[in-house]
Amino acid sequence: MMHKTHTLAAALLLAVASALPMAGMAAEPAAAAVQQPQQAPGFYRMQLGTFQVTALLDGTHLFPVDQLLLGARPGEVDRLLAQQYLKAPVEGMINAFLIVQGDRVMLVDTGAGDLYGAEGGGLVAALRASGHGPADVDDIFITHLHEDHAGGLLRDGKAVFPNATVHVAKREFDFWTNSRNQDQVGPLQRPFFAAAQSVLAPYRAAGRVQTFEPAGQDLVPGLRALPAPGHTPGHSVYLLHDADQAMLFWGDTVHVAAVQFDDPQVAIRYDWQSTQAIASRDALYQQAVANGWWIAAAHISFPGIGHIAEGAPYQYRWVPANYTLNR
Ligand SMILES: [Zn+2]
Repeated sequence: MMHKTHTLAAALLLAVASALPMAGMAAEPAAAAVQQPQQAPGFYRMQLGTFQVTALLDGTHLFPVDQLLLGARPGEVDRLLAQQYLKAPVEGMINAFLIVQGDRVMLVDTGAGDLYGAEGGGLVAALRASGHGPADVDDIFITHLHEDHAGGLLRDGKAVFPNATVHVAKREFDFWTNSRNQDQVGPLQRPFFAAAQSVLAPYRAAGRVQTFEPAGQDLVPGLRALPAPGHTPGHSVYLLHDADQAMLFWGDTVHVAAVQFDDPQVAIRYDWQSTQAIASRDALYQQAVANGWWIAAAHISFPGIGHIAEGAPYQYRWVPANYTLNR
């Protein structure tokens, strides 16, 4: 033991000595010590059985959660945020997810495209950094037709994904593509009609929009849609499954993780029907806990991949994925 320690100490000394500049050798000039603002490229990947899942960061935006959340008890939002060292406005994520199996390349949601200004629109850069281009994408599964999920279908008036079929629930498609439904929503949600119609337009013109009934059968092998209505009429979630593993991709089931895991009853002003949205959220939490599903979430801190746990002192809590080098 003693001998080993000595050897280690000697090795360390040698390492320190060799790191010092040698006498008489010109030292390299020190780089200017400036802080650099950017993060690493916004992608993160892991394996789910034979599927490779890559989270793509489209952008982040400051979310005034104190003004947007509904139905919280007095002081509840501030208290739950403070417990996670947060306060309003909270920096919110816009995540989308790439799924690759063999030569099939699929995308769940597309980020905001041009519709969130500089706060969104990073999806294609993240996709390229991860080793894929927009032309590789065969299928796009849209959770719902709000701007931060479907907006990335279009950039500068052009379809971003030249080879992809866009899959969206029939009820969702029918609702947002019919402007007569505008009187069913509040003023906050009215701009979503024109936005949804414009981002879908080139795909519709090319016959590349396919609607589905989220009845639980696979849309493509290993991926099925489940209805989760309330946030929007046809809001859907996608369950990816392979052997005994499964991952649930959701759009707007959770906007503020710090609040809505402990209190699923807290809703958001952007909900079409908040009572139904709350019921959908609660049902998904219960299913995810019971089945041990992975969750891939649009608005949970990047990469938005983790599990849900149940238990005191919280009703539910978010358990982020442990980092992997994905070897
Ligand atoms: Zn959203």
